[in-house]
Amino acid sequence: MASVELHNIHKAYGALPVIHDVSLAIGDGEFIALVGPSGCGKSTLLRMIAGLEEITDGDVSIGGQVVNALTPRERNIAMVFQSYALYPHMTVAQNMGFNLKLSGETKQVIEQRVNEAARMLDLTKLLDRKPAQLSGGQRQRVAMGRAVVRNPAVFLFDEPLSNLDAKLRVQMRSEIKALHQKVQTTSIYVTHDQIEAMTLADRIVVLNQGKIEQQGTPIELYRRPANLFVAGFIGSPA
Ligand code: ADP
Ligand code: MG
Repeated sequence: MASVELHNIHKAYGALPVIHDVSLAIGDGEFIALVGPSGCGKSTLLRMIAGLEEITDGDVSIGGQVVNALTPRERNIAMVFQSYALYPHMTVAQNMGFNLKLSGETKQVIEQRVNEAARMLDLTKLLDRKPAQLSGGQRQRVAMGRAVVRNPAVFLFDEPLSNLDAKLRVQMRSEIKALHQKVQTTSIYVTHDQIEAMTLADRIVVLNQGKIEQQGTPIELYRRPANLFVAGFIGSPA
């Protein structure tokens, strides 16, 4: 677990500025939802925290240490995307353990962590299956399992449920909540689903055109939106 701090982050793709002076402090173990319309810079922000995208200006700190110069692996972060990209030729257990194998962990350690994560995510009975033999929700759980086994300091979620149907989304939402209650890992969760943000997050950060419009607890944003934009996004759940 670790705190995450963004200090005056700017990002431009070539001549196109997309993130403007974003500063944000996320506490150890906190669950933050990052919401905002398509194209406002949510993924770009996550990718800079993960080390997958260069920062134009500003600092990212994890656990009080500036990590700008660290590789993604050195940052000890796990990212879960909407496209889960499991390896089709590997079993569930092999998919979940693959990153640990790359890090040079022993077979015993890998097996123990995979089993532990499988119990947490109700995957124990599926460990020998291939991805093609799983439902969409089960595949997404494997993708989360792959992140959990690494015991990362921070989880970054980029709209992980947006490819699932409505019923499954509700179910996975509860599973993510339960998982966070168990592991208490600092999490930044990008979504454009306001219900997801309201039910999962300790705090919601609203991004618009690369700037933070407002941040606060779900109740604060719901009761006292700073402006019409926030009200439109949070104030009136469907
Ligand atoms: P969001 O995740 O909120 O939908 P993104 O972070 O993906 O937004 O994109 C923010 C802006 O940056 C958009 O205008 C997008 O077109 C642009 N953008 C994203 N990635 C790149 C890239 N690799 N090269 C150039 N422009 C990009
Ligand atoms: Mg995105």
